[in-house]
Amino acid sequence: MLGARLAWLLADAGVAVTLYEAGPTLGGLVAPWQVGDLTWDRLYHVILLSDARTRALVEALGLGDRLRFGVTRTGFYTDGRQHSMSDALEFLRFPPLGLTDKLRLGGTIAAVARMPAGPWLERVPVLDFLTALSGRRTAERIWRPLLQAKLGDEHARAPAAFIHATIQRMYAARRAGLKEEQFGYVQGGYAPVLAALTAALQARGVTLRLGQPVQAVEAGGRVRTAGAVEAFDQVVLTTSPRIAHRLLGQAPPAAVQRRLAAVEMMGVICASVVLDRPFRGFYVTNITDPSPFTGIIEMSALVDPAELGGRGLLYLPRYLPADHPLWAADDDALQATFLGALQAMYPDLTPDRVRGFGVARARDVMATPVRGYSARRLPPVDVGVPGVRLVTSAQIVNGTLNVDETLGLAERAAPALLEALR
Ligand SMILES: Cc1cc2nc3c(=O)[nH]c(=O)nc-3n(C[C@H](O)[C@H](O)[C@H](O)COP(=O)(O)OP(=O)(O)OC[C@H]3O[C@@H](n4cnc5c(N)ncnc54)[C@H](O)[C@@H]3O)c2cc1C
Repeated sequence: MLGARLAWLLADAGVAVTLYEAGPTLGGLVAPWQVGDLTWDRLYHVILLSDARTRALVEALGLGDRLRFGVTRTGFYTDGRQHSMSDALEFLRFPPLGLTDKLRLGGTIAAVARMPAGPWLERVPVLDFLTALSGRRTAERIWRPLLQAKLGDEHARAPAAFIHATIQRMYAARRAGLKEEQFGYVQGGYAPVLAALTAALQARGVTLRLGQPVQAVEAGGRVRTAGAVEAFDQVVLTTSPRIAHRLLGQAPPAAVQRRLAAVEMMGVICASVVLDRPFRGFYVTNITDPSPFTGIIEMSALVDPAELGGRGLLYLPRYLPADHPLWAADDDALQATFLGALQAMYPDLTPDRVRGFGVARARDVMATPVRGYSARRLPPVDVGVPGVRLVTSAQIVNGTLNVDETLGLAERAAPALLEALR
């Protein structure tokens, strides 16, 4: 989305753009696939009502009338039971916490939602921050499992800025003057968005080199693929710093190489489970009990069942650092572990209800949020190689990883690039 949006903006400004993509189609993390008889996004994606840039892009692609929004329910799986936590009343009834704990938890969220961003948030360990605000019991019973769900074991190193950005995103709708946040999707998922985006880029004269992994990028704007070397006035890498480092090799100055190497990437192993019919009706179920996956996302709780042929569609994500041994597990082993755990949690989910299962692996998802990130690790745009720049989601500071932020990065990077080309 980052590379495609940048190509779009530069082409609109009259630049001749060539876009290289390793995969057979555009999309990267938002690309679709087929599991059982369903085609939907390989990884779960929603658009928030407050995602102004994403909505504007969908509109510009002529798909505005296919955007659907709705209010969804949230669940918690705690102490072997599913709880609904979708409104204030359910929150007050939520058994694992006492009333004082709950009031402090509610107060924490309200306070962080109003807290301005500041460099100090990057210095304080997130669990210390949340323990101070919510108390030890809530930090251990609620916050730690929630952080683990998104960051795995790395949560212990994360700064308060991480939870600040996450809560701020939840409240973005209110800041935008909307009454409540809603989740949405484009009918058909990201597949029609990507088809229209591909056509829009071609209509703007962008040359698409799909299925052409770049092997190296060299000084002077030379791009090397398996069969060819092409030279450009400017090359913009929009991959993770890890991949950028590999493509640039020894070309950047040593200090830049150290910065690129310092960004640790987190990835996700995410199973898609197709069921004969919709499941419990919670878009997100946060799991606080031990589990091989860290949450359950039920896409069929948001998407009109008719669009999914009456099927249920669940995603079971597990976020991992780059060196985790689980990356080596094969699909059969993961299927046995993930489905076994899901069926142990919900004994009524009998094996005959499962109509499809697929494992998606994405290694370069986001920079692991660690304390002091922007001071010590933030990768530079100028990588010190003439004719080459880096614009990457690892440059998002004080934000969370989402398509809207990604489009924002492209929009902020375009003016300087145009200036350089002039
Ligand atoms: C599980 C999950 C759930 C998410 N849910 C949401 C959500 O609900 N809402 C939301 O807004 N966002 C969500 N996101 C985030 C969203 O997917 C990202 O913000 C966005 O897709 C990032 O786009 P990108 O272009 O920066 O990165 P990527 O999509 O990773 O794109 C990088 C591209 O570079 C290509 N590439 C890599 N190496 C080479 C090479 N050598 N040569 C050529 N091409 C190469 C890759 O193939 C890829 O297409 C989610 C992400 C994940 C992982």
